[in-house]
Amino acid sequence: MEVKNNLKGVKDTLISSHCELIAVSKTQPIELIQEAYNAGQRLFGENKAQEMASKHAALPKDIQWHMIGHLQTNKVKYIAPFVDLIHSIDSVKLLIEVDKQAKKANRKINCLLQVYIAHEETKFGFDPAEVIELLNSNALSEFLNVEIIGLMGMASFTEDQQQIKSEFNVLNALFTQLKTLSLPANVHMKELSMGMSSDYKIAMEAGSTLVRVGTAIFGARNY
Ligand SMILES: *Cc1c(COP(=O)(O)O)cnc(C)c1O
Repeated sequence: MEVKNNLKGVKDTLISSHCELIAVSKTQPIELIQEAYNAGQRLFGENKAQEMASKHAALPKDIQWHMIGHLQTNKVKYIAPFVDLIHSIDSVKLLIEVDKQAKKANRKINCLLQVYIAHEETKFGFDPAEVIELLNSNALSEFLNVEIIGLMGMASFTEDQQQIKSEFNVLNALFTQLKTLSLPANVHMKELSMGMSSDYKIAMEAGSTLVRVGTAIFGARNY
């Protein structure tokens, strides 16, 4: 009941925006995910490949699974057959492996490039100049089983709303700029993934199309 109400609360907040909601279910048990599913939720986000694969096996097949956490190359194989979108492409090495595993699974995998926008040392991703360089380099057109459909970013872990807002604005500006460039055939700037429980309203106002919300739906995680 709580999950259903929380979900409704978040959805009501997003109602007049262009944002889709990804329910971040990492560490949460099957029963709670099923509860969100029963309330109509179909997009779920996980940050560990094997956990996602076992939940995929146990739950209804019309769920779209989004990988949102740092993905090691040796784990790509667990999710390649079914993953709907990988938000966390943070290196060309990872992209090479995703392309290879997608080919093995005889499908194309949608991906976002993770961009480093936070003023912190710990976050993964490309910096904005590297993204532009990568898109200009033609390297991406070699990946026949990968579609790059946008960007993802995480703001700094801070109470400073102004700083969070300006980091999201930086990412949105890059997204908007890239839309005007002539991009490789398998690159389309459609999705901008930003915003979590603590900052999704700011992200929504800054142009996010995909918000990734866990705690505000499922409550605090027990690690
Ligand atoms: C865990 C996680 C989220 C969701 O965080 P909440 O604060 O629980 O909403 C969003 N994005 C990423 C990349 C995460 O790892």
